[in-house]
Amino acid sequence: MSARRQRVIVHVDMDAFYASVEQRDDPSLVGKPVIIGGRERRGVVCTASYEARPFGVHSAMPMSRATSLCPQAIVLPPRLDYYGEISSQIMDALHTFSPLVEPLSLDEAFLDMTGAERIFGAPDAIAQAIKEEIRERTRLSASVGIAKNKFLAKLASDLDKPDGVTWIPFGDERAFIAPLPLRKLWGVGPKTGERLARLGFRTIGDIAAADLAMLIEQLGEGQARHLRALAQAEDDRPVEPGRERKSVGSEVTLSDDLRGLDQVLPVLRRQCERVAEHLRRAGLLARGLRVKLRYTVGFRLVTRQRALAHPADDSASLFAAARELLASLPLHEPIRLVGAAGFDLEQRRASEQLDLFGAPPTRSNLEHAVDAIRARFGDKIGFGD
Ligand SMILES: [Mg+2]
Repeated sequence: MSARRQRVIVHVDMDAFYASVEQRDDPSLVGKPVIIGGRERRGVVCTASYEARPFGVHSAMPMSRATSLCPQAIVLPPRLDYYGEISSQIMDALHTFSPLVEPLSLDEAFLDMTGAERIFGAPDAIAQAIKEEIRERTRLSASVGIAKNKFLAKLASDLDKPDGVTWIPFGDERAFIAPLPLRKLWGVGPKTGERLARLGFRTIGDIAAADLAMLIEQLGEGQARHLRALAQAEDDRPVEPGRERKSVGSEVTLSDDLRGLDQVLPVLRRQCERVAEHLRRAGLLARGLRVKLRYTVGFRLVTRQRALAHPADDSASLFAAARELLASLPLHEPIRLVGAAGFDLEQRRASEQLDLFGAPPTRSNLEHAVDAIRARFGDKIGFGD
């Protein structure tokens, strides 16, 4: 192994995202070909469900072509605001694994999980945990790729869709990708692909082994070096998290409606626990708390928020505030989504990074200590109050 630290990069890609959301929300669509996109004359396919794909329907195809290939398909207009909301649930889930999350689109992101094996286990266990977290929060499936860099991780997530995990073993990258077709190289479009095919290149391995001077002559210096580096499994680009987070949230879309305080409270408590855990992992304190409910009827969304008495990262403080906020919300109507978020965030000061086990027994210190124990001994340990 080289002296440089082995990076662990994860690429998460939701499966047929828009279509899966619509199928989740309307059970009558499950198992049927569903196409999301514009119906107008020049409309294109945004997403096709897996049932539509065997007919040759794929994204970016003109809708007229898609519907002639698959006339029985159910065509729905995209609900981008709604998908955006679910996307933030997904990104929230990813942020519980690493502060280094780089969203690529509503349904795709990179995570840098370097060093996380101590907490989450081997790369394939990390991938499973991420998928489960997303599924628990959204009831949607994702495919995950893991490798030593971004190019390979993104390539990997696409190899076993839907609901797959592909880990490109560290050290064997070049052999793993060598037989794959050229179009899997990032930056090879149809034009470059044709050009390379005319030169006799078929696979990624062909490019990896090609004479660099000849490639430069054909493609120009920039692209030649870029493709050759990728073909040799080299890609040093860092995972670049988006702008600073303004809030840390957790919400869950329920498979059965909830009604009444007795049903809502435990779900809200769980969301507060997640938010608290996430705050602690990120070294953040929240000065405010927000509660969010979506009602089943009319899809109505309501939020309530308040300042906390003290900046907090423990579930007890967050839940106490959440519980008060809940008192001002109607709970007799059916509810399909429950969420909590900490906002107005501040960095926990170094002086507050106390010696956990010698620290005064505040709720925050107790929960920090439990985090540390969980990190060492796994998730079996729990505590209540
Ligand atoms: Mg996707």
